[in-house]
Amino acid sequence: MKSGTRTIAQIVEPQAVVEGAGVRLKRSIGGHALNYVDPFLLLDHFQSKNPADYQAGFPLHPHRGIETVTYLLTGAVRHRDSVGNAGEIGPGDLQWMSAGRGILHEEMPQVRPEGVAGFQLWVNLPAKQKMSAPRYQNIHAKEIPIIERDRGATIRVIAGTVDGTTGPITGIVAEPTYLDVALAGGGSLVLPIPRGHSAFAYLFEGEACFGAEEKALTAPKLVVWSDGESIEVRAEEPPARFLLVSGKPLNEPIARYGPFVMNTEQEIQQTLRELQQGTFAQ
Ligand code: MN
Repeated sequence: MKSGTRTIAQIVEPQAVVEGAGVRLKRSIGGHALNYVDPFLLLDHFQSKNPADYQAGFPLHPHRGIETVTYLLTGAVRHRDSVGNAGEIGPGDLQWMSAGRGILHEEMPQVRPEGVAGFQLWVNLPAKQKMSAPRYQNIHAKEIPIIERDRGATIRVIAGTVDGTTGPITGIVAEPTYLDVALAGGGSLVLPIPRGHSAFAYLFEGEACFGAEEKALTAPKLVVWSDGESIEVRAEEPPARFLLVSGKPLNEPIARYGPFVMNTEQEIQQTLRELQQGTFAQ
C-alpha cells in the first residue's frame, strides 16, 4: 500500500429507522453510532418492493440550513415544493436541493412493481449560506457521465472529477465528490481524494475490501475513511457496488433539530417561531 492511502476509521452497521409518514430506511450517518461526518449530516438508504415500507412517503415538511441529495436507483419519487418546483425523479436520476433559508416540500415514492431503492444524503451548509435562497439541481441519469476503468471499475460521476471527467453537480460549498461505483469480481479501484476532506464509502451490494484490509465487508455497510490522499477498494466474488462520497469539512458548531440544521440553538428556536407564525419559507 502506498503511503497516503486512507485506512478504515470506522465501520457502521446501518440501523433500521422509520421516517416521514412511515418509510422504512437504513440509516448509517445521523444515528447513534455516527452522528456527523462533517459536512455530512445524514445518510439514509431505502430499498423495498413492499409498498407498505414506502408508500406513506414524506408529506409536506420543512428544511433549513442544509442540502438534501436524493439519488434513485429503482422506481420513482414525486416531489413538489414551496418554491414552485415539481416533478418526478426516476432510476439513475439525482436531485441536489439546497434548502438555504427554507423550503417546504413533499417527497413521495410511487408504488411500482419494481419497488423503490435509493439514497438520501444531507450536506451541511456553512453559517454564511444557511439563509441563502433555495436552489435545485435536477439531474437526469443520462447527464451523469460513466467512466469505465481498467481493473473492472465502472464509475458514475455525479459530483467531483475522475480521470478528467467532472460530474454535473456544481457550485456546492463542500466541494463534494459523489460517485456510484460498480466493481466487477476481481476488480479494484484506486482514487485520489483531497487530503483533509472527509470521506466515506457506502457498500450497498456485494462484498468488498477497503484500504489494506484483507477481510471483505458485506453490504450494507458504511466505511468512514481516515485522512489521506487516496482510497483503495477491491472486490472478489460477489462483485460490489458502493457510493464514494467526500467533502470539505466546515468545522463549525451545529445545532440540529429534525429537518433544520443551524449553528446555534437560538437559530433553531427562531426557525420554530417562524413555522408557528406561518412566516417560514414565505
Ligand atoms: Mn425532505
